[in-house]
Amino acid sequence: MPKLTDYFIQSRWPWLAASIILTALLFISTSIGWFWYTEQRATAERQLSLDLLWLEQSIAESLLINKKMLVNWANDLPPDSSKISTKISSKAAEEFLSNVDGLVKENPAILSVDYLDKNGQRLFGFPNYLERPEHLPPVSDPLITEAVQRSLSLATPAYSQVIEQFAPLWVLAIPISNDGKNQGSLLATYDLNQLLSQKVPWWFVQRYDLSLVDRNNKQLSPRDGGIPEHANDVHKLSFGPLDSGLTLRATPHIKEQSKILLGLLALAVVLLGLLVIWLLKILQRWLRERQAVQQVLAKELRFREAMEHSLVTGLLAFDLDGKIIYANPALCNLLGLTHESLLGSVAPFPFWPLDTREACHQAHQAMLQGENPANGRNLQFLHADGSILSVRLFASPLVDGNSNPTGWMASLVDITAERQAANTARERDELLQHTSRLATLAEFASGIAHELNQPLAAIANYSAAADSFLDASPMQTKKVQEAVRRMGEESRRAGQIVHSMRSFIQRRTVQHQAHNLVKLLTEPMALLEPMLQRSNISLNVIRFDQDIVIDCDAVMIEQVLFNLIRNAIDAVAAMDEPTVSEAITVHIIHEADCVVVSVCDRGPGIADHDKLFQAFYTTKSEGMGLGLAICRTVIESHGGRLWAEDNPGGGARFNFRIPCTAVSTESNFNPISRVTTSHE
Ligand code: ADP
Repeated sequence: MPKLTDYFIQSRWPWLAASIILTALLFISTSIGWFWYTEQRATAERQLSLDLLWLEQSIAESLLINKKMLVNWANDLPPDSSKISTKISSKAAEEFLSNVDGLVKENPAILSVDYLDKNGQRLFGFPNYLERPEHLPPVSDPLITEAVQRSLSLATPAYSQVIEQFAPLWVLAIPISNDGKNQGSLLATYDLNQLLSQKVPWWFVQRYDLSLVDRNNKQLSPRDGGIPEHANDVHKLSFGPLDSGLTLRATPHIKEQSKILLGLLALAVVLLGLLVIWLLKILQRWLRERQAVQQVLAKELRFREAMEHSLVTGLLAFDLDGKIIYANPALCNLLGLTHESLLGSVAPFPFWPLDTREACHQAHQAMLQGENPANGRNLQFLHADGSILSVRLFASPLVDGNSNPTGWMASLVDITAERQAANTARERDELLQHTSRLATLAEFASGIAHELNQPLAAIANYSAAADSFLDASPMQTKKVQEAVRRMGEESRRAGQIVHSMRSFIQRRTVQHQAHNLVKLLTEPMALLEPMLQRSNISLNVIRFDQDIVIDCDAVMIEQVLFNLIRNAIDAVAAMDEPTVSEAITVHIIHEADCVVVSVCDRGPGIADHDKLFQAFYTTKSEGMGLGLAICRTVIESHGGRLWAEDNPGGGARFNFRIPCTAVSTESNFNPISRVTTSHE
């Protein structure tokens, strides 16, 4: 049942229409049937009254005729008739009996006619018998005697009360008098059953049920069946004389058609009732469902409204022709326009600025053609106050319940502030870069000066030495040649420094070549040998492998080694009591695919780890504070790392690790720029 109901509920309108039509039809047909039935009943009742009246008159007339005939025949009997015997001898009696015989033949309801003398003795009668038949009441029956007395006293025929024998019997007592003297009585005994069956025509019996009841409502005829005591539609009519107390009851036969109709009517009423109840139940359930759905919808609506009002993103919906069909409050705020002014408007829209109208139009057309990039598109819109807004527009298709396209939904994010912030940041960045470039230039100039200082100082020393060797006597030609050779080497070294610096400036890729690392140590050590000797400081190189080949820019790595060893010499020399033996140790350790070089000294140690690699940080009176910063940049440009730590035995330890195989170095990598930002 619930499933059937669900089915009906799902297709509600056809079901409801069919139910209403069915109910109406049922109601109309029931009403028509009811009216027809009541009309039929009224007609039948009228007919019954008429028929009953006719029957009553017909019986009454028949009884009256019989009575008159009997009275006449009784009065025609001779006065001495009391002397005739039951065996008919008198002609009058013969004639009387002959008449009675004829009457009884015509009226089978008359069972007997008895002639009683004034003493109540039967003298003769019909039928003729010696011994009175049992089915006839004795003439001395009290009810008969009472009727006889009544008839005599009133001098008019009188009917007895009903005598119940095999059938309800009725005795008519007719007084016989002669010259005012009582001569006797004539008794006519009627069988009421016979009377009714004789007088009631066939069509009457077909139409109605008949029964005869006495004044105590006892049914006399028929004895079985008949009309139940409390039956409906019973019509009553007094039967016989006024004091007989008999009533004729009749009720119409219910025709088969009427029964069927009545049954159908009852069925229709029941069906109608059930249908209406069911309809009401379904309607109630439907209403409840509708209410529930409405509540859910209202909740959803309130939720959506709240969401809409909390949104800071502007929402615009277009139909397939590009007309605005929806705008949320955020969009109205964004553009400074009212909801009403936006709804229904078509391109060109009032928020398209004049100077970018073409771009807006193209973007609008692209959206309508479905060209909507996932990351949106940037546009400029006009605010109602005349200011220009930068917005980012994301669009996606709108579809109905059947996935058919119905338009486009666009969300707009105000990126004006973001744009302005980006512009400000860019300007600030450019300014910084400009300042940075200036600083870099200055630092770079200092770097060149610092780097060139060494070879130039060496050249000056060699020049002075050569000069003194030339002045010496004898002139020391070989030493002069050596000094000149050294001067040439230092000049080349200065040239290489300039070349390397230029290669940095030009942001070229570092010139990598395979070099033996141990050999790369030779040049810096040769340059620093005079310093070591002057300060009486020993330098040990510890390596486990002679042939450590690395891909590198040789001049740069030599510069790094030179700087680190010179710093170590400076540190040891700065001690009040410099350690003489193993003051400086260089470890070269070959790992799987890289090499680690550590320069350890027994100097005072690192004063400030944080500032060590910052450009221009120096603790020396003549230092420039660029050496370590440049060294780190060089090592990092080779894909390696340079770091400093305290030497466990005292002093400092500077390490760098570089890969043996060259790593690809970006051509735009600018080590000088690293110098300027080396605050780590
Ligand atoms: P400069 O040698 O011109 O000072 P560097 O960049 O080479 O510039 O060195 C910066 C500073 O780092 C030095 O002034 C010194 O204070 C510190 N430093 C460098 N090497 C050592 C070292 N081996 N021991 C202690 N301090 C050192």
